[in-house]
Amino acid sequence: WKNVPPTLAALAHIARSHGARCFTVHEDERVSYDAFFRATATLAHALAARGVGRGDRVAIAMRNLPEWPVAFFAATAIGAIAVPLNAWWTGSELEYALRDSGTRLLICDAERHARIAPHLSALPDLTHVIVSRTSQPIEGAELLDTMLGDADGWAALPDTELPEIAVEPDDAATIFYTSGTTGHPKGALGTHRNILTNILSTAYASARAALRRGDMPLPATPKTLLLVIPLFHVTACNAALMGAVFGGSTLVFMRRWDTVKAFELIERERVNSTGGVPTIAWQLLEHPERANYDLSSLETISYGGAPSAPELVRRIQAEFGCMPGNGWGMTETSATVTSHVAEDYQHRPESCGPAVPVAELRIIADDGVTALPPGEVGEIWARGPQIVAGYWNKPEATAATFIDGWVRTGDLGRLDEEGFCYIVDRAKDIIIRGGENIYSSEVENFLYDHPAVTDAALVGLSHRTLGEEPAAVVHLGPGMAATEAELQDWVRARLAAFKIPVRVLFCDDTLPRNANGKILKKELKALFDQR
Ligand code: ATP
Ligand code: MG
Repeated sequence: WKNVPPTLAALAHIARSHGARCFTVHEDERVSYDAFFRATATLAHALAARGVGRGDRVAIAMRNLPEWPVAFFAATAIGAIAVPLNAWWTGSELEYALRDSGTRLLICDAERHARIAPHLSALPDLTHVIVSRTSQPIEGAELLDTMLGDADGWAALPDTELPEIAVEPDDAATIFYTSGTTGHPKGALGTHRNILTNILSTAYASARAALRRGDMPLPATPKTLLLVIPLFHVTACNAALMGAVFGGSTLVFMRRWDTVKAFELIERERVNSTGGVPTIAWQLLEHPERANYDLSSLETISYGGAPSAPELVRRIQAEFGCMPGNGWGMTETSATVTSHVAEDYQHRPESCGPAVPVAELRIIADDGVTALPPGEVGEIWARGPQIVAGYWNKPEATAATFIDGWVRTGDLGRLDEEGFCYIVDRAKDIIIRGGENIYSSEVENFLYDHPAVTDAALVGLSHRTLGEEPAAVVHLGPGMAATEAELQDWVRARLAAFKIPVRVLFCDDTLPRNANGKILKKELKALFDQR
């Protein structure tokens, strides 16, 4: 144990102290905490030897693999900024984020490498590429053998200590991409303090759930967690991963979500906790094969990231005999702001819970200043040590969103007398499909680019388990023709698959707008019900 400031490097030292305990399970591959620390130390030395230092951006583009946390901790422990990229993104979406972040070194899996390779010449700042999970040599890239065992020339690097590089709690640690109204994603710049704050929030939720079961002493984190959400999302990285590393939990990874595979893993690994987004909870509940598996080890199923039906609470308790948990937050809050468990959640299934310790919530009126009393609906603003420092290289967007230490969330909600928060609507134009956010304007902009389209809007259609699905309404120019499939293919060629409209309606007139010229999306949604 070393006396380093409370940063991700200190957390890596805690990981080492968990020794032989199993850290990650991926298929048949098991990595102990000790092996994780050694791989992290080796990679950190390798990065430092390639000139990566404090403030440099190191992007990570891979599925949930054991080397993801290694890359994350190696970069952040030496003061570099980790830039987790969405693994569903297309080559050009990846290129945008790599260019915007000015990434110097990219660590990716072979699948992401194939996507990004044609774009590398357009990224002059990107001087090093390290590829994992490939047996083929790749020109210009170094190969990261699974846990660095055989990586060329790396075996000689120290693996018992991290490089001695001073990192402070308020140094930047992460850029997670999120988006807003402009179409292009914005990088939310998180600090070590922001990220480590989630350990307290995670421990707080676990402790409250455990109190109910009468477990003493209170566990900080579940023993074994099935991690089904991608690590490039703040909830997975900043809440689940940080909590696990702190508490010495085992993280069980999945290559991609598959309900039956999840049942198998829960049974085989005696998983205590899973969830992520409400869609996952629904799929676990409703799959006909559930009865064929022993899922009795499950203690909690928790979720956030999208609105969840109150009915989930009762059903999880009744059918799994375990505790549901809900939490609200956003990329700009580096993960958790509210958390809701145990009797509190049972009695208030519509709420997403009270603020976690040291976070504060306010409901602000339309004027942008007046704080509203309990019961009244307004925009939710949040403050606390988890709120990120701002958007990367976007001073205007930062000034508009981060005000006097508060973040305006774009969510509409209310607080009750006891401080429980209720989300009632979203002021921002996003569609949340199974927990993946789709920024309407981004898809609309690509639809507008189609030569036949003169007016376009993306709306969210309700879907019972996914929450929402994107659908488009378009108006074509005079004499122009396009089919639904053609417009879907147009989007498919440019954007990640989850953003493709599941339906396209053709409107004879230009789309209905209000006096300010804003498209009336509620009316457009109704069109889908009629047809
Ligand atoms: P992740 O990056 O892991 O997906 P996240 O979903 O919390 O985390 P964002 O993707 O930035 O963060 O999306 C944040 C938005 O998701 C919130 O502003 C809100 O609209 C919605 N949201 C998040 N949690 C909840 C919740 N518990 N209930 C309702 N809506 C939620
Ligand atoms: Mg989300």
